[in-house]
Amino acid sequence: MFSLHKGKSKCRKGWKEIVSCKIESGKEKLRYLRFSIMTIKSEKMKHPLAQFLYCPRCGAKAFVEANEKAKKCTLCHFVYYFNPSSAVACIISDKDENILVVKRAKDPAKGTLDLPGGFSDMFETAEETVRREVKEETGLELTSLRYLFSVPNIYLYSGFEVHTVDLIYKGEVDSLVGAVAQDDAAEICIIPQKELDPEAFGLTSIRQVIRRICTLDE
Ligand SMILES: [Zn+2]
Repeated sequence: MFSLHKGKSKCRKGWKEIVSCKIESGKEKLRYLRFSIMTIKSEKMKHPLAQFLYCPRCGAKAFVEANEKAKKCTLCHFVYYFNPSSAVACIISDKDENILVVKRAKDPAKGTLDLPGGFSDMFETAEETVRREVKEETGLELTSLRYLFSVPNIYLYSGFEVHTVDLIYKGEVDSLVGAVAQDDAAEICIIPQKELDPEAFGLTSIRQVIRRICTLDE
């Protein structure tokens, strides 16, 4: 049996639409597959460039909304489109399906669990970002790397809502022994995948990732 559910709930960012589906297996066991996220309705959101009051080319205050994701200068005609930044997160496992998670050293969501990851640098591939961030935060070198799926996210930094597309990867290492928390990671925790608790993860997109991998691997 298969049923699709659509819902709407209010969140800090406005309205979000939630789509989920239930699959009932033989013995009345319900399996939940939560579909990728939620569309935040644009009419309830403030413009992503609302904080950008002046034209970055000529400095005029004539920097006005061109459409829902762009602003333009009515004096020098400069147009700036606001696009999401690419970011990565990596599920690192060893041969026994233990997962490495880190405790966040900094806000947002300081002190909560997270996956190693971060923003891509300019001219860097997403795969290079994963290997660099994993090395910076844990000291580990990945032996293999595989892309899984992506999740849109809003990351509040310095009072600014940074929209991202989080690219989720699965990375493998021979052993998680020897991982050392560094950089943005305050602490390293090794947790069997079956014991992962999505609610312990502070960032919305990462919580969704953990829910999804736990469900898919049942
Ligand atoms: Zn201008």
